[in-house]
Parts: sequence; structure tokens; C-alpha cells
Amino acid sequence: MENSRQIYFPEPPGQRASGAFIFLPAAGPSLLDLRRILLLLLLLLLAALPGLAQESDKLALQQGNFRILYSPQNEKTAAAVARMVEFHQARLEGFYGLQIAETASIIIAASPVEFRDYGSARLPEWSSAAYILPENLILVKSPAWAGSLPQLERDFLHELSHLYFHQKFAALYLPLWYNEGLAEYLGGRRLEMADEIKLSTAVFSGKTIPLDRIDSLLYFPPAKAELAYLQSLSAVLLLKETLRREGVEWGDFHELVSQAGWEAALQQSTGMDEFAFEEAWLRALEKNYRWLFLLNIDTLLWLILGVVFILAIYLIRRRNKKRLRRWEAQERRGEQFY
Ligand SMILES: [Zn+2]
Repeated sequence: MENSRQIYFPEPPGQRASGAFIFLPAAGPSLLDLRRILLLLLLLLLAALPGLAQESDKLALQQGNFRILYSPQNEKTAAAVARMVEFHQARLEGFYGLQIAETASIIIAASPVEFRDYGSARLPEWSSAAYILPENLILVKSPAWAGSLPQLERDFLHELSHLYFHQKFAALYLPLWYNEGLAEYLGGRRLEMADEIKLSTAVFSGKTIPLDRIDSLLYFPPAKAELAYLQSLSAVLLLKETLRREGVEWGDFHELVSQAGWEAALQQSTGMDEFAFEEAWLRALEKNYRWLFLLNIDTLLWLILGVVFILAIYLIRRRNKKRLRRWEAQERRGEQFY
């Protein structure tokens, strides 16, 4: 299972500081309660200290609107990330048709512990990067302990797409599959043979995830999340193709989404509502990847097993027939002797 998934928090997590509200005293607390509350607050402060210490350990590098925070041992990675910002910012600004005004942070987590500390309890185990609201923060893993620099670049671009997407459509509801599919697409991911086999297998075993269910991506186990990302990317590719066929620029589609909302923009630009689009997407998967599921390793193993089984039966029957014939011949020869 590749460890290359990203996570995006679709709605502002709100109170991410753990449990501070649990300790609000009820009306008229006794002295004992107050002492207990103070003790708990002290424990909470102690628990927060390692995080605070980490923050102060970080060095900062400014690149345009982006403040890159990193540990001293990740200086080269920080410089590489600065170059990524410089290189990709204009491209994403062009695609989304906007420039970000406020400062965003990029944190290069120096260790798994740091990644979890800066992330959230809601971060799934399989995530390799995250865009976190409302801090406007992109969290990536240092290649020193996870993945590689090209992987970091893909993850970073994916999360950067989420950042622009949020700036562009923050006030609107858009399905998460579109957000994730676009992030995958802009992150440079394309459907490879292995991906197409997975999609084909899902289609022919009736295990595709309804597109609107992808909104719950955060709670999916790894294999289902992987399928959800593939479905999202393939649906975005179909939408891109449909818009091109209808002569609608992607940028114009986004402007229409901003003005009229997702459903109206989809209907006006493609002539399909969400249900019709999903149906068209499923039909396209069936058509394009009709027999590809046969290449699925599990299917292949069953096929090979079936062929071996039939071959074994054939060989056994042939051997038995030969043996029978030999016995008959021996019997005939025997009759001559007796
Ligand atoms: Zn994402």
C-alpha cells in the first residue's frame, strides 16, 4: 500500500486545542473542584510544552506569501520547497484565477511525532500531507524520514491546490471528490495502468463508492481512501473532457461555480445534473476499462488456478484411460496364455 495519500480538512475544525472546554467549572465550584481544575490546567500546559518547544526550534524561510518553517537538519529541503513555491505558485494562480493576499505557512515535519503534533487527531494514519484550516497551513513530511523529494513535491502541490480551492470557493459547497480530484490532477497525478485496473475491478465488482459519499473520505480505511482518490481523479478527468467538448473553458466554469453554485454551474456547462454526471462517469469507466479487471492480480490468480485445475483433471483422465487400455491389452494377452 503506497503511503502517498493526502488529507484535506473540508470544514474548519474549530476547536482543535484538545479538550480545553471540558474543564469549565459548573456553577458554584467547591475549593476542591477549583484545585482539581488548576491541576488539570497545569497538566494540560505541561502536555502542550513539547509542541511549544518544537515551534521555537523551527527556522523560517519566506517565499512570497509563504512562510516555510523547518528544523535545522531540513535546511536543504526548505530551500527546495521555496523553489517549489516559486515555480508552482504562478501556475496555480493562473489555473484558479486568483492571487492569495494573506500569508500561508508550510511546516516541514522533522519526525512522525512532529507530524502528528502539528496535524490533528482527525488526521488519518494514511495521510502523507495535510492542508489545515483555519490556520492556512500546509503540513508535509521531511523526505529524511518519509518518501522522497519528488513525492514531497507532489504532496505539496496537492495541498497547495486545496489552499487555492479554499480561497476560491470557501463560501460554497462543492463536493469533496471535485476538490480532491483537482488536487490530484494539479499535483501531476495521472491514471496509470495499475490505477485503471483498480478502477475496473471496482466497477465490475460493483464496489465503486458513490461520488457524494467521498465527502466522508477522512473516515475511510486506506484501501477505500485509495479508491476514492482514483475515482475523484477519473471524475475530474471526465469533467475536463466534457467541458472541452462543450467548448467551456475550465476557468469560466469556475467563475460560474462562484456565481451560481456547483449544481447550477454543472448543469449549465455540461447539460447534466449531478446524477446524470455520475451515471455518465460510471458508463465511461465501464466502456474504457471493460476487460482491464482481468489483469487484476487476484483475478489472474483465480484464472490461473482454474486453468491448472482443468488441466489436472484432463491429465488424470487421460492417464486413467491409458491405464485402462493397458489393462485391457494385458487382459487380452493373458487370455492367449491361459
Ligand atoms: Zn487532498
